[in-house]
Amino acid sequence: MSGGEPFLYPGFVKLCSALTRRHYISINTNLSTSNVYDFVNLIFPKKVIIINAAFHVVEREKRNEGKSDFIDKVRCLRNRGFDVRVEYVVYPPLFSRLAKDVEYLESQGIEVISLKIFRGLYFGREYPQSYTEPERTLINRYTCDVDEEVILENEVSFWGRPCSAGQKFFSMDVEGNITRCTTSLKGHGNLFEGEYYFDKTPKPCPFLKCGCPYEGIKHVKKGKSSKLSTFREIRQELLFRRESKHYQDFNKAHTSMMPILKKESKPEN
Ligand code: SF4
Repeated sequence: MSGGEPFLYPGFVKLCSALTRRHYISINTNLSTSNVYDFVNLIFPKKVIIINAAFHVVEREKRNEGKSDFIDKVRCLRNRGFDVRVEYVVYPPLFSRLAKDVEYLESQGIEVISLKIFRGLYFGREYPQSYTEPERTLINRYTCDVDEEVILENEVSFWGRPCSAGQKFFSMDVEGNITRCTTSLKGHGNLFEGEYYFDKTPKPCPFLKCGCPYEGIKHVKKGKSSKLSTFREIRQELLFRRESKHYQDFNKAHTSMMPILKKESKPEN
């Protein structure tokens, strides 16, 4: 479960309690709220696969006990038996302090730190493409799992490849609306209304870039789907965008998908 910050949603700990009666959950959080301790007391650790705890060092330093509050919560969760992975997003202005921050966490007994590659714009430059060689060397010096290496190399286009998002994985918003993944707007129904459907087989990815590569890396399959089935998937995605309140996304999506289609459909010489 992700947010924004999921612990800020009203009744979030109760929701976790209800869900873990029959299901397993994972959470992405920055551990900034006090109800983390309610979670520790109420939830059975074996029903939580992993808690990804993002260490937002600059925000933490704005408060007196900010950093120690984070450490205390990680320790408390781990002592109770939760698997907590501490994440540090390699945001470009943090490079000068990265080594010091990792050292600080390690001195507090937090030795396994996962560096997360920053994806997005910073001062008009797009990341991860804009990481410099020295920055890449620094990133590689610290723990970096295989998924992060793929993201660092920006190998996140799975266009036309079959992906089981929509068959075995879904994204759902707080109103119960389901899409195949967080990049897609193609509706799969609404869980709360009891009307939803799953694809029977993996469908081609219609996007030039997987908006959340962690989902794509996990669910995309080897090989290419046929051009016709990819075209169908693109068309459905475009139709949903045109009909939904996200109409403004339609043109953007249209222009980002169509050049490839034109290129793909050119007769071969
Ligand atoms: S590869 Fe990514 S964007 Fe494409 S369908 Fe799968 S999860 Fe969605």
